[in-house]
Amino acid sequence: MLIFDDIKVEIESQGFKGTRLGTSPQKEKTVMFLESMRSTDTVLCPVCGDGVYIYENYHVNLKDMPLWKDVEHTCSCTIHRYRCNSCQETFTEDIPFKHPGTRITYRAANWIKGFLQQKVSIKAIQELTGIHWDTIRKVQREIMDTAIWEHEDALKKAGYKPRILAVDEFAIHKGHSYATCVMDPVRRSLPAAERPACAARGIVP
Ligand SMILES: [Zn+2]
Repeated sequence: MLIFDDIKVEIESQGFKGTRLGTSPQKEKTVMFLESMRSTDTVLCPVCGDGVYIYENYHVNLKDMPLWKDVEHTCSCTIHRYRCNSCQETFTEDIPFKHPGTRITYRAANWIKGFLQQKVSIKAIQELTGIHWDTIRKVQREIMDTAIWEHEDALKKAGYKPRILAVDEFAIHKGHSYATCVMDPVRRSLPAAERPACAARGIVP
């Protein structure tokens, strides 16, 4: 059987090198240490296009899928901060496996999407992965937004125009404010053409 303490790390991927796998004293957390191997010669200033130099190292922790049940797993990434030789602009290196807008890896985000598609609850996903509730909600929102925009795009391409509109109001924030909802009762959706206009008027789809 695979014994955790015997795992030797030899990973190179997307410009990063794995240096070691750490475990917390109570063995409830594991950390994969990754270091950027990117050569400074390949980096140019985003403002003036001149060469840059590394002026400090920067650490970013990204939650990843656990390697073991009930053991949170994190990727601790050491990346570079650069300063331009000419204009002194400073900027931080991108991490190609970081899921945008979150502190989790793409791999973790894909697992979360898979769990959600299998109708696993957010609470259960949180317990399985140790990833924060808000982050899981963010990934869920991303799935819903993609589905909505794909649906609207398909309707636009098909030249669909709603003939009947239904309007309703509902309470939000425990009845302290109200929102208006405009729907297409035939398609059971908010008409695509109305969505930006609604947003501009403060109408929540
Ligand atoms: Zn510059």
